[in-house]
Amino acid sequence: MTPDQLLQLDRAHVWHPYAAMGGGPVFPVVSARGLYLTLADGRQLIDGMASWWSVIHGYNHPVLNQAIQNQLQDMAHVMFGGLTHPPAVTLANKLVELTPAPLQSLFFADSGSVAVEVAMKMAIQYWQAKGQTRSRFLTVRKGYHGDTFGAMSVCDPVTGMHSLFQGSLNQQLFAPPPTPAFGEAFDDSHIAEFSRLLERHSKDIAAVILEPIVQGAGGMRFYAPGYLRRVRQLCDEHQVLLILDEIATGFGRTGRLFACEHADISPDILCLGKALTGGYMTLAATLSTREISETISHNPPGAFMHGPTFMANPLACAVANASIDLLLDSDWRSNVARIQQGLETGLAACREMEGVAEVRVLGGIGVVEMNTPVDMDQIQPAFVQQGVWVRPFGKLVYLMPPYVISDEELQRLCAAVTRVLDETA
Ligand SMILES: *Cc1c(COP(=O)(O)O)cnc(C)c1O
Repeated sequence: MTPDQLLQLDRAHVWHPYAAMGGGPVFPVVSARGLYLTLADGRQLIDGMASWWSVIHGYNHPVLNQAIQNQLQDMAHVMFGGLTHPPAVTLANKLVELTPAPLQSLFFADSGSVAVEVAMKMAIQYWQAKGQTRSRFLTVRKGYHGDTFGAMSVCDPVTGMHSLFQGSLNQQLFAPPPTPAFGEAFDDSHIAEFSRLLERHSKDIAAVILEPIVQGAGGMRFYAPGYLRRVRQLCDEHQVLLILDEIATGFGRTGRLFACEHADISPDILCLGKALTGGYMTLAATLSTREISETISHNPPGAFMHGPTFMANPLACAVANASIDLLLDSDWRSNVARIQQGLETGLAACREMEGVAEVRVLGGIGVVEMNTPVDMDQIQPAFVQQGVWVRPFGKLVYLMPPYVISDEELQRLCAAVTRVLDETA
């Protein structure tokens, strides 16, 4: 198939994320290695997105390839109902060990959105087991938790397209976006509205759900750890569960292994995904405290009612084990600090630029927020022209490169972004 035929068939039959059928340019990729995507015409692009937060060690990594090949010799898949296997048990133990101490029980899901559905069902079943009917969730605006119905109901009502699915979504409670910004001083006035909502509805609220410290696809905002610490206290005071969605932030991206460590708190339920397999396969996990798993297990119906066909897929678990070992064997902490420094320096020139509202950096995440939404049909080819893969949304041009990016490549990535924004402004 020639690249032209490929694109023609793609346009005719294949949906892309958040896209019209046949809409917008797409670029055919033939291979990817390390930091680089190779297009069908031979051009090589520095990947600034880590394939949506997930490819932390770079593409085609020999250790991760080997882990999958080894597992393939034994089995690609086997159902998880009534059966278990070493890759899953090893991974579950590793994750229980790595995450905050109270989290002791783990459920494997097959994508981030499903991990969020599982977390929400767990919270509802927990209260049911305690003889209480609690069906609502309290969250904050500008959040993102996935595209399935439960997850969508707790996404930001505006960017989460609630009007489009009006009537099909459960009505959740929304507090203002968390403030102040990361690095600024928090006081109780910042959380007054959240606090009021929690107090007024606490008996109906199964759980509070939010992304710790970094709000990703809902707005790429970084907020103060003090806010999160206070959320934990308020949940305890009002006896409401706390679900933290670390699907984007987990595995070092914010400079801590998990973003909740910035606030020294732990959730009752934690969702992981994205970088879990180093970006090789789809896998996610929902962890809970022993109290939650035992309460659900020891009361009718005595079971947690969810079970994906491809639950705990052995290939995915094997590559997740290898990816986590790679991460922990590296000096990821100073590496992410180095990337933070490189993004700060590399994006500094954007601060003065016409059309730029704000530049912010935390860990391995760099964000240039524009005053108005960028023109995707114009800006996407411009980035490719400059030899980088960057995929903005709305007003947000953002970078979260694989951790293997060198200082020189980081400089080239930031220079390309600066140049394109300068030219399109
Ligand atoms: C990406 C993301 C999800 C959804 O994960 P999928 O694997 O795309 O279903 C949920 N929550 C957060 C914070 C995310 O960044």
